[in-house]
Amino acid sequence: MQTIYSDLLSIGAGLAGERVAIEAAAAGFDAVCLSIVPARRSHSSAAQGGMQAALGNCAMGEGDCPDVHFADTVKGSDWGCDQEVARLFVNTAPIVMRELAAWGVPWNRVVPGESKYFKGGKEFTKVEQKEKEGLITARAFGGTAKWRTCYTSDGTGHTVLYTMDNRAAQLGVVVHDRVEAISLIHDGARCMGAVVRCLKTGELRVYIAKATLIASGGFGRIYRESTNAVINDGGGHVIALDTGVVPLGNMEAVQFHPTGIVPTDILVTEGCRGDGGTLLDVNENRFMPEYEPDKAELASRDVVSRWMTVHMQKGFGVKSPYGDHLWLDIRHLGIDHIRTKLREVDEICKSFLGIDPAYQLIPVRPTQHYSMGGVRTNRDGAAYGLAGLFSAGESACWDMHGFNRLGGNSLAETVVAGNIIGKKVVEYLKGCEAVFNSRVVDDAVAKQTGRIAAFRNRTNGAESAYAVREAMFDAIMKGAGIFRNDKDLSECVATLQALHERAGRVGLKSNGLGPNPEMTLALKIQGMVKLALCVAYGALKRTESRGSHTREDYPERNDRDWLNRTLATWPEGAPLPELAYEPATKVFEIPPGDRGYGGGKIISA
Ligand SMILES: Cc1cc2nc3c(=O)[nH]c(=O)nc-3n(C[C@H](O)[C@H](O)[C@H](O)COP(=O)(O)OP(=O)(O)OC[C@H]3O[C@@H](n4cnc5c(N)ncnc54)[C@H](O)[C@@H]3O)c2cc1C
Repeated sequence: MQTIYSDLLSIGAGLAGERVAIEAAAAGFDAVCLSIVPARRSHSSAAQGGMQAALGNCAMGEGDCPDVHFADTVKGSDWGCDQEVARLFVNTAPIVMRELAAWGVPWNRVVPGESKYFKGGKEFTKVEQKEKEGLITARAFGGTAKWRTCYTSDGTGHTVLYTMDNRAAQLGVVVHDRVEAISLIHDGARCMGAVVRCLKTGELRVYIAKATLIASGGFGRIYRESTNAVINDGGGHVIALDTGVVPLGNMEAVQFHPTGIVPTDILVTEGCRGDGGTLLDVNENRFMPEYEPDKAELASRDVVSRWMTVHMQKGFGVKSPYGDHLWLDIRHLGIDHIRTKLREVDEICKSFLGIDPAYQLIPVRPTQHYSMGGVRTNRDGAAYGLAGLFSAGESACWDMHGFNRLGGNSLAETVVAGNIIGKKVVEYLKGCEAVFNSRVVDDAVAKQTGRIAAFRNRTNGAESAYAVREAMFDAIMKGAGIFRNDKDLSECVATLQALHERAGRVGLKSNGLGPNPEMTLALKIQGMVKLALCVAYGALKRTESRGSHTREDYPERNDRDWLNRTLATWPEGAPLPELAYEPATKVFEIPPGDRGYGGGKIISA
């Protein structure tokens, strides 16, 4: 069996994985990144709207600074975040944004007189005393006090990931693509790398590393309706959970984005509303100001998604063969703006809906979008439970997003966390002596070889991985969506527990070893059901509403009992995750208070 040694193994070659690897490579360490797809096809490249950093260059960003960004982030998280991490993030974001410019990201720049905004349906231009022409500009996003989201039209993820991948190549970071990590190698105390399956040949490989990073992105694809790519099915979370000792944090905190298009669920960016787009109902009435007079469409995503759902439940949705939806209207932004600053949205609408958004309304509804929960780490990005294991990006619960992340704070997190955690990984590598236990490695490989053989041998009467996945989609869409309650969550947990058992009996119709998607799914479907159980069971136990976690039967935010973070571990053979809790933050720079939008009742601590 092929064995590959490195100092750093990154499971993921998206923005977070490559940014950490760059730091290691720049310090002279060998860094290998793994990816299911070619690195530049990682999901980061799908990000559209931009990334937040308090540069304060454009007129509408005047007066911005890390303190204002910090306040927005903490309020956005509904006080669920670790405030020390949020502070580290906002202070570092401007530095990282300029670093990306130096590496080649073609940021949109300040053009005096371009700070156009809409109020009461009228267009205004903020004429600034001294606009800083040529500096990195920004657009408005939800839940922010200032225009702070730096962008390259609406292809920000694309430009940043291509730039990052070039930089990684320059520094000698090695990328192995079309491979999938299916297990961590560990002895219960220390992580030593991963067992990896080649998706072309089906062969197993061993990657031994001093430090292992999980940077595998989100797990949106445990939901049927998601803006995420099909590869975002939580593979990294699964292998962490399978260790039995590494906890996942706040898995019940799942974000729904207001504007997934109907019926394909592809995202059209929050930049549409940031640039002045509005949401209309079946009567083409702009309804958000009725619910949120101040922020309207630019309240945070959890708030807008909830009001959209309520408005449709009241009968104001547009009927379609694919269920009810609302409209996103960007016609008034004008053809020039749409064809330049929202050109991916323009293309998506034309290619997937057959409409021209400069003249027609876009059908949208809230769709699963982002996983705030993930591999729980400390401030240095070190995972709880195993020495030598780190996590960064969407797969991690670092935790600067708490129960709702702000638009534009995730792409920024990947590179900011990559920068900070990369340096911590380098410190770890400098002090690390490589001692690997070959028996532990052999056992890990034997376990995966045995699983593969069992799937291949099980044919007659075996369960289908696809059928289990469909049933999981039904259960989680119904029980753990935007609105949750005890009855639906209890049913969801019971259904998922039954599916967990069924997933243990999965066999294959096509048992070839080579490029075999059925085998790929079979290997992770039980893990995906476990993740769904972490979401639903965590949500059942959290008897309050906070950020994206909305309980109809517990509508208030309860700081007295629930100002904490859920930690889910899965001991071997257990029917459910074990839940523990830790304080959301040790330091309160901003004590819990009212967010200023989405007002609900708060039970004070
Ligand atoms: C449509 C869309 C638009 C978005 N727009 C914005 C935006 O404008 N601003 C913003 O802030 N955020 C945005 N986001 C969120 C943001 O893009 C992501 O959170 C972020 O890019 C995640 O980066 P990452 O490096 O953590 O993971 P990813 O970019 O998803 O990379 C994950 C990597 O892990 C690899 N991988 C996964 N599992 C395995 C495995 N088992 N073995 C080996 N490799 C594995 C993948 O192949 C990939 O290389 C958007 C998200 C979506 C879905």
